[in-house]
Amino acid sequence: MSAFILDKMCRACKRCVDTCPFQAISMLAHLAVVDPTLCTECEACMEACMHGAITFKATEEKKANG
Ligand code: SF4
Ligand code: SF4
Repeated sequence: MSAFILDKMCRACKRCVDTCPFQAISMLAHLAVVDPTLCTECEACMEACMHGAITFKATEEKKANG
């Protein structure tokens, strides 16, 4: 489980790329993508993204369940 980008929300501002302490995010075309082998789920990118484009499966499941 790792951070993932909701592509329609991503504005390619690269804030998350600069924020990730583990260099787990890179830009692919005009979309930020997370490398799950590098991501430690520190959630720094989620806080950095001003467009709400980054979320975590666990966070989504919590929302869905209640
Ligand atoms: S901070 Fe958010 S909007 Fe900006 S590149 Fe990353 S995912 Fe996309
Ligand atoms: S959760 Fe942390 S390690 Fe994973 S992509 Fe975001 S900033 Fe990088």
